[in-house]
Amino acid sequence: MPPLTRPRGTYDLLPPESALREWVLATHERVAAAHGYDLIETPAFEATEIYERGTGTGTDVVEKEMFSFTDRGGRSLTLRPEATPGVLRAVLAAHLDQEQRPVRVHYAGPMFRYARPQAGRYHQFWQLGIEAIGERSPAVDAEVIEVAWRFYAVLGITGLSLQVNTLGDPEDRTRYRAALVAYYAPLRDRLCEDCQRRLEINPLRLLDCKRDHGLVAGAPEIGASLGSESRDFFARVRTLLTAAGIPHELNPRLVRGLDYYSDTTFELWHASLQGAQNALGGGGRYDGLAEVLGFPPTPGAGYSLGVERTLAVCRAQGLGPVPTRDRVAVLGIGDPGNLAAAEVARRLRRAGLRAVLDASDRRLDRKLSSAARQGARAAVVVGEEEAAAGTASWKDLESGRQETADVDGVAAALGRVLRGE
Ligand code: AMP
Repeated sequence: MPPLTRPRGTYDLLPPESALREWVLATHERVAAAHGYDLIETPAFEATEIYERGTGTGTDVVEKEMFSFTDRGGRSLTLRPEATPGVLRAVLAAHLDQEQRPVRVHYAGPMFRYARPQAGRYHQFWQLGIEAIGERSPAVDAEVIEVAWRFYAVLGITGLSLQVNTLGDPEDRTRYRAALVAYYAPLRDRLCEDCQRRLEINPLRLLDCKRDHGLVAGAPEIGASLGSESRDFFARVRTLLTAAGIPHELNPRLVRGLDYYSDTTFELWHASLQGAQNALGGGGRYDGLAEVLGFPPTPGAGYSLGVERTLAVCRAQGLGPVPTRDRVAVLGIGDPGNLAAAEVARRLRRAGLRAVLDASDRRLDRKLSSAARQGARAAVVVGEEEAAAGTASWKDLESGRQETADVDGVAAALGRVLRGE
């Protein structure tokens, strides 16, 4: 029987590569926390309706990419294609916004989209992000963008391009939709099948089409459809970004794939990522989302960033955690030695060390070379004699220095070696 394989569009995260993701997630958590964002976790699946109403039926994500299933009670559920609708549902259902505004939360976790697998596109992928819920102000939008920008700066990623745009308020968008329809309707025959449909249900999405580039260039821009409130709001966001020293480019074609955005939208691009997949992530303001989910109108803004693409850029730029060689291999010789070695390992761990036990019946030289291959910094050897005396011998595998001491002495000496003292 051939070995079973993993499903299409998925990947396995294996060590040592997993350390890079841990580092990226920990960095995001730290940067978000420094701005007052606390961890939130919501289910990996929600009622399908949340995405149909929230993300929007006119989007590719909802039309073509959802992993939906019916549970045993006949309810339609969907593996989350994105986090924002679920996070907003959770925050508003718990009335967190009645205690503080904005509610600042950050998240990280797997998302699921049935998109055609290709480089940088998976069926299961991770996003991390933040949401600031309950306040409508340019300062919140600028803060959200600044957190994303700081996150990439702390990772050390260079060469990012921040694209910003505004989608205005619902009235602006009604005007803009009419302008787009007026432009595209006479060109209907030149549009792809998807866009012919988008023209009816969601004309803004025509600007996202990868096939109709020639036409997008001549399409009207949103600027002409904006009222003065939207215009001022966006100008203030940009002023705040400039004051924060964050360079940004106005991109009037940036509409984003999801339905619920209003006012500020943004994307972070990186040139090392290919073609249509060059966005590390993006976000914006979504003041209309709460209402379509059945909650009182509540403003909000946030972003979500693709973890796999962030890792790809880290790899391309040689970024990652500073490798720490801090493992101690604890090696027993013979039965009494192995038994005592297990206890020595326990005591070293209680002293705060990373102790990896090898209580196999292999020869000591084999155990030592395997410990060195696995990157151990030091080895602790417990033979019959040491077991009887309650001692152990330790060896610094870098300098070759070795000594015998009681277990507390070994822990103290190794602590000094690992701290470089
Ligand atoms: P979106 O929620 O569509 O705005 O996506 C935000 C980011 O998530 C994108 O810029 C990608 O970095 C990442 N992303 C979206 N879909 C996928 C996918 N199918 N596979 C891998 N990453 C994805």
